[in-house]
Order: sequence, then structure tokens, then C-alpha cells
Amino acid sequence: MSLDDLALALQRLLDRAIRRLRLGPAPLPGGRRFVIVQIDGLSRAVLEQGLAEGRMPFTRHLLARHGFRLEPMTVGLPTSTPAFQLSAMYGVRPDIPGFHYHDKRRGADVYFPRGGDAAWVEQTQAGGRPGILAGGSAYGCVFTGGAANNLFSFTVLKRPTAQGVLRTLSAIVVLLWVMAKGFVLTTLELWRAVLRLIADPTGEARRGWKWLVMKIGVSVWVRQFFTLAVARDIYAGVGAVYVNYVDYDVFAHAYGPRHRRALGALRRVDRSIHRVWRTIRRVPEHRYDLYVLSDHGQLHCTPYVRLRGRGLERVLIDDVLAPAGAEVVSPEHPHGRSLAKGIKATRSRRAPGMWQRFLNYLEEDFPRLMGELPEAHQRGAVRVIAAGPNAFVYFLHAREALDLESIDRQWPGLADDISLGRGIGFLLARSAGGPVCIAQGKRYRLARGEAGPFAHRTDRDVVLACVNDLMTMPSAGDLVIYGHDATEGNVSYVAEIGAHAGPSSDELYTFVIAGPGVTLAGPIDHPVDLYPHFREYTAVGAQ
Ligand SMILES: [Zn+2]
Repeated sequence: MSLDDLALALQRLLDRAIRRLRLGPAPLPGGRRFVIVQIDGLSRAVLEQGLAEGRMPFTRHLLARHGFRLEPMTVGLPTSTPAFQLSAMYGVRPDIPGFHYHDKRRGADVYFPRGGDAAWVEQTQAGGRPGILAGGSAYGCVFTGGAANNLFSFTVLKRPTAQGVLRTLSAIVVLLWVMAKGFVLTTLELWRAVLRLIADPTGEARRGWKWLVMKIGVSVWVRQFFTLAVARDIYAGVGAVYVNYVDYDVFAHAYGPRHRRALGALRRVDRSIHRVWRTIRRVPEHRYDLYVLSDHGQLHCTPYVRLRGRGLERVLIDDVLAPAGAEVVSPEHPHGRSLAKGIKATRSRRAPGMWQRFLNYLEEDFPRLMGELPEAHQRGAVRVIAAGPNAFVYFLHAREALDLESIDRQWPGLADDISLGRGIGFLLARSAGGPVCIAQGKRYRLARGEAGPFAHRTDRDVVLACVNDLMTMPSAGDLVIYGHDATEGNVSYVAEIGAHAGPSSDELYTFVIAGPGVTLAGPIDHPVDLYPHFREYTAVGAQ
């Protein structure tokens, strides 16, 4: 008997005691149960590379020897964890245009790492539907999916419930024996650091070796902890378990999706999958089905800040939007100033002297100190948010989304002007005739079969449908900017090498790996298709 087994045996004893005290009855035997292992950020292409290069020997073994099959999945736009998980967990098409966006009607940003934002989105968008994790466990997920145990998910990260804490404590009781009392607090601290890394990977990277050491520590510790907690759940017969291993995504953001450090993370995740599988095999009476899936891929990018020295949110506001008068819309100045005048003003601005530089310095750092979110900048009634390889422009004087016709009327030429900037791939806007794409000053009416930057793609119809879904979301910016296929290559507006949110094949196409006893109604064209499949388990388990 290994130390791990001993730990789990001890912990099962304690778990039974805790359950008797206050956590209700043990789950009923019978019915099937599931464990979803999400490898955050892994595209089908990189998975296949990892399998071929022998970086995921166990996953390959599952496919070759245990009758597991790989089902292709299209994840929809944006290619981002919150959009994926809300769709899969609740079966609804979410209004989540990015990892960071503005909700005009609420008058506030949604920024997922911030405490409370994920909970608010889940509450308002799940539409009262039961989640696929009802009564189960979620580890490292953005939303709870109805899970009773989700201490390490974004939603409850800053507001853990007493019950959640108790259950998690029981899960790691043996580690507590081994690691002493400080372990829980340390893990919480480290996990918060992971969230910061996800939000701002290269910002942390500037701190050099410390960042690396911490990151590896986090990758190892958090993953080990999740794996142990999942093992505990499997022994306890928890009906629905969803664990998200973020290692690969974090490394891919920092170094790029095919960098050796990112690929190295796959090997560690593969070992954890093996561990989960072994545990499942020890309790065949619990009838677990194992799924391995990914929520989106990543695209290799150049950070915009490297091209321009400033973030897109600042360049757009300072050099384009403010000179065009986009921020001064008010009843007295309904149309702003003219664009030509604005451009002239920018050009005539003298080189900044010391005083100007000091003011700029204050302007750069002050908003952050005053609680402004990263990669967001606002002047007057115009707000720009950079969320990854995507950015949003919001004209706040209009409470609803503004269409291209209105934008053209108020600031003629503005949208085209933005599309001509350095590091800009294409722009999306709404119009009466469906979404319009603007690339390099040229407009394409996507609904009329003008595919513009997507014309060369064989999967053009899929991409156009995804773009249409995105621009139907009320919270997508009045202008949605993507850095894909800019003249300078693929560009991200957050300081990162790997990025995601857009429609490239590397981001859009992932997979679900499922066992021989499972029938997935494929092909999976959108994560909402997963909902009825997993809901069937929880509906049975709840009887
Ligand atoms: Zn990511």
C-alpha cells in the first residue's frame, strides 16, 4: 500500500464522519457517473502533435488499447474558457464575448479573475437551468456548473462557502497531516497567483526567475492537489466531477502553444490523467466514464505592445478615438469633432517634454492605482478593452450596441481608419444587413457571401457562423478588433506570446476523448451540444 493509498483510506474514514455530521447522505449506488478532465488551451492540432511525439503516452494508450475515441469539437467564438464552460455546463449560448469585456446595460466591466464577476455572469446567464455538475465537484473551473464543491473555481474563489471549505478540507486531510496547517493558505495564495498569471503572464515574466520558480511550483502543486481531490471524489462516488488542468494554457500564454515548455506541461497533465484512470479502475462499482476534452486552442502571436510601445487601448484612445472626438459625445456635441481636424491635432502635437512625460507617467499608472482594470482605458464616453488577440471599443453614450451605420454617421471614416492601423487584423461591426468585417480599409458584408479575410479558408462557413454568433452577443463591443493576420503577423493586445479568443483553426478546433461505452452525438459543432449528454448523468444521479 502506497502512502497515497494510505492517505486516501484515512481520508475516506474522515469523510464518512464529516458526511454523517452535516453533509447529508452518501451518494446512492447505481447509475453512471462521469469525470471530465479539461486540458485548458489545447487545440486538436497540438494534441495530435503531442500524441505523435510521445508526450502523452497514457492518453495514446487509452486511444490505442482501451477503445477510447477522439471526437472533433468546434468550440465557437470567442475561443475562451468562460464562453466554453457556460455553454457546456448550462446548454445556453452565452453573452460572453471575451475574457474581459464591458456590459453596457450593467455599466460595468466583466473581468473573470476579479472576485464576483464569474458568479454574477453564472447567476444572470444560466437562466435557472440545472448545471451538469449538480451536487458534484468542480476544480479550477470558471463556473460552478451547480457543483456543491468548488472551492478553487473563479466563482467562489473569494467567497468560499463553509460547506465548500469543509469538503475540501476533508479532501486534503492527509496532506494536512503531511504538510502541516499552512498548506491550505499556501495553496490559496498560489492559486491566486495562477489567476494573476493567466490574466497577465508576461507582466509577471518581467520578474524573471522568481516567476519561473513560482509558476512551476504552482503547476505542480495545484495539479497534484486537484488530482488528489478528484481521487477522493471518485472513491466517494461523487456523481459529476469536472477538473480543469490549467498548466498547458499558462505555459502556452507565456511561451507560445508549441514551445517546449508548453509541450512539457502536457506530459505532466498526461500523468495526472493516468492517475485519475487508475482510481476509476479501483472502484468499478461506481461506473465512472472518463472524458478528456479541451475548451479552446491557442495561437502564436506577437504582443502589440512590442510593436507600438503602448497598449492598443491607449493607442486607440490617444491617437485615433479622442482626436476624432469620439469621447466627447454629449447632447451639446452629438457628433464629436471632425476626424480630419482630430488627425491634424495629433500630428501637430509637439514631442513631449519632461512635464508631458511626467503627466503621461501619471496617466499610465494612476488608473491602475485607482482600481482600473488591466488593458482597459476610457476617456469620456469611449471605453476600449483589450482582452487577448481581441479588443472591444464601446461608445458609452448609447446604452445598446451601436451599429456601423450609426458609427459612420457620427464619425465618418473612423472604423476604416482603425482597420488601417499597425497590428490590426480585422474589425467586426453590426449592421442592418448582418455583421460587417473591415480589413485594411475594405468592407465585407459577411451575410452576403463576402468572406473577406476568411475567403481563403476551407471551413469558411463555420467561421462565418461563429462570427455571426459573436456579433449577436449584446456585450460584444460596438467595434470588435482582432489581431489575426495583421501585416505584422498574428497580434495579441495583451502582453503574451500565446493567445486565444479568435477564429483561427488552432483556436477553434479541439476534441473530446471518450470511452467505448459512451455514445457522443457527433460532430460537436458547439459546446452547448455537450450539455444534454452530461445532463443525462446528473438527472439519473439525482433520482
Ligand atoms: Zn488562456
